[in-house]
Amino acid sequence: MTRTLRALGASLVLATVAAPAALAASAAPAPVKSLRVYVLDCGTIDVADISQFSPGVNVGKHKKLTDTCYLIAHPKGTLVWDTGLPDALAEKKDGMDMGKSYHLKRDRTLASQIKAIGYDPLQVTYLGISHMHFDHIGNVGLFPKSTLLMQKEEYASAFGPDAAKYGNDPKTYPTLKDNPVQELTGDHDVFGDGSVVIKRAIGHTPGHQSLFLKLPKTGNVVLSGDLAHFTENWANRRVPSFNYDKELSVKAMNEMGDFLKANKAVLWIQHDYEQNAQIKHAPAFIE
Ligand SMILES: [Zn+2]
Repeated sequence: MTRTLRALGASLVLATVAAPAALAASAAPAPVKSLRVYVLDCGTIDVADISQFSPGVNVGKHKKLTDTCYLIAHPKGTLVWDTGLPDALAEKKDGMDMGKSYHLKRDRTLASQIKAIGYDPLQVTYLGISHMHFDHIGNVGLFPKSTLLMQKEEYASAFGPDAAKYGNDPKTYPTLKDNPVQELTGDHDVFGDGSVVIKRAIGHTPGHQSLFLKLPKTGNVVLSGDLAHFTENWANRRVPSFNYDKELSVKAMNEMGDFLKANKAVLWIQHDYEQNAQIKHAPAFIE
């Protein structure tokens, strides 16, 4: 999302920092026998004028986006993919405005959803963040022990000398710098068997990434990150006005289009409200 939105979100992010201490350590569920994914509700974003996601198209039209996070359980460990809007937002029953452009809402916390499926955030093996925008890092503080998997350029945009230039402020995610980190320079096979693979897809931000899942029953799926925000923009390869690099954004979308075809994979668009409504959410899981 935009710089303004991230700045406005800072107080909410800070409000969540104390959360891990309050979580009692508990035994993790027994390792799963085969790969599964839990789809977690990480809030909604009402956008007053959706054309900022497609300059010149859909001008003045309102659109509701969802915000989605995922817990992936593999026989060798767990990966949380994106952390959504800050859990503190759930305390505001009617949500909150962010400037004139956005209205944010969260009906339930990420912490409560993870607890409900029997996992302890302190025991999650990996934390995969598609990119550093505010609506994806709201609860990184819940996972201080997980190994952060992030493209090198994205890590630099968060913690390097130019962080402010990218609209990032390390003060709003103070625990992330202390996470163990594995900086990536391309695709990355998380568990070594090809079933969970981070796909480098830069353009939306300097080091944006998506996630490929080879689900044993459902088939191949890619979690989009913000490669596109909803189906219409994906189909037309539209680039939001606030993307880091327009050409790289189009290239990443085209490459992903080819990858989906070659692997008979379906793109789950994390902000697509309508598509998300069709996908089973936690506590159920998808194999
Ligand atoms: Zn987003």
